[in-house]
Amino acid sequence: MTTYVFRNPDLYQLDELRELIRGRKHQSMPGRGDGFVVEDLDLVIRWYGRKWGLDGKGRYRLCEVKHANGEFTRGQSNTFGLIAQDLQSSKRFDGFYIIRHSDGAHDQDTTYEVNGARLTCDGFLDWVQNPHSDIPGLWEPTADNCSKCRGTIRVIGCTNVGWQLICTECGDRRTVNDATFGKSP
Ligand SMILES: [Zn+2]
Repeated sequence: MTTYVFRNPDLYQLDELRELIRGRKHQSMPGRGDGFVVEDLDLVIRWYGRKWGLDGKGRYRLCEVKHANGEFTRGQSNTFGLIAQDLQSSKRFDGFYIIRHSDGAHDQDTTYEVNGARLTCDGFLDWVQNPHSDIPGLWEPTADNCSKCRGTIRVIGCTNVGWQLICTECGDRRTVNDATFGKSP
């Protein structure tokens, strides 16, 4: 970690800046009760050009990175969910993903979960190089339908207990722990 911060001194400062805006040092700053949240996003992947069959602007994917037991907070879910929903209409947007990894070694033994789908290191690197993810992004419609009303099911988050799903028609919410469903065709 020390090496990482040393190579990326901006990371350290971003953290400090975020905490300043969150009012850790100045009590006068507004907080969640005032309708004010500050989040940072970990990773943006963009593919562009002929190698990917794309134009010069290409496509992009937004990612939040967590350790295996790292919490995707309600504040992050609300804010990133809002962004993901706004971007659904863009053909360039490949989705919002929560990447969980088992350890910091990032070698062949590390396992990855991408919005709840379990991947090996090689599988993860394949996913990183695929501008059209097979795994549904946050708030994207899945191939499954609601058992109550047959409405569209969207993923609104994932925790270490499973995927959090919502039916966009009847509002039914549930958590499932087997991520077997795919993207909507
Ligand atoms: Zn429903």
